[in-house]
Amino acid sequence: MKIIDAHAHIAHWPTLAVTEAEILRSMKEKGIAFSLISDCDCSEYPSLDSYPPHHVSTLEGLKHCLTFAKKYPNRIGVLVWINPHHELLTPELIRCIHDNSRYIYGFKFHPWESQMRITNPRLVPYLRFITLEHKPLLVHTAKDKYSSIRYLGMVATRFPKIRFVAAHLQLCTDDKEEAIRTLKLHSNLYADTAWVKMSDAKRVMDEVGPDRIMFGTDNPVDGEHTLDNPIYEEYFANVLDLSGKEWRALMGGNAAKLYGIRFPDRTKKPQKKTLLLDKKK
Ligand SMILES: [Zn+2]
Repeated sequence: MKIIDAHAHIAHWPTLAVTEAEILRSMKEKGIAFSLISDCDCSEYPSLDSYPPHHVSTLEGLKHCLTFAKKYPNRIGVLVWINPHHELLTPELIRCIHDNSRYIYGFKFHPWESQMRITNPRLVPYLRFITLEHKPLLVHTAKDKYSSIRYLGMVATRFPKIRFVAAHLQLCTDDKEEAIRTLKLHSNLYADTAWVKMSDAKRVMDEVGPDRIMFGTDNPVDGEHTLDNPIYEEYFANVLDLSGKEWRALMGGNAAKLYGIRFPDRTKKPQKKTLLLDKKK
């Protein structure tokens, strides 16, 4: 059983090195085998203003993530945080994505931090590109004028080949009806559990489908205790007593399938060379 955190970040909170170390430390503590990260410093309109603004371009943010993932390719994967409000999809960015495709599992768009709905025409070149890349797009959803899951539903219809992941199952509301209704309407729409109560995740599994939601946390947005939050302790402890199959799907299986995360096979027999060396002993 491998736990995957399908929604984590690096950023200058207060430095990249601190967030990277925190991700590795908390993964070890909680038994998380793999985390998908994106760089929050790409934010075009940062809402976390407790730190000085530290904006970087999509390409710079991607390079930060790649440096981290290349050190730990079996534990860290990259989502490319896109900045459609101010940036065009450049040949240089596309080249970087293609040159590093083995470390890149998908894309991330944050409507609030870009002050732009996903239905905005500026997203179209990105969505066409993502269609061709066959990699999922994680999209922040919340009850605000840019981030409603309804807009994501509209785009899911227009781009049926993209698998969209609605982060937070619509944040800032306990009323998950709209989110669940939208998920039911679009088979290419998934969700993650960042700041989502486990009882709501279970509702998605029961009412929409067992493979439509995956564990994700926003680690370490709330600092070193992000994963100690009671909302996540429920998942680790399986307080709802999901069957083994359901819990494994929620905690890692669904993300592995959707993002194509494969773990090295450690059950392989020793290679011939090793056997020869053994004989020499
Ligand atoms: Zn996030």
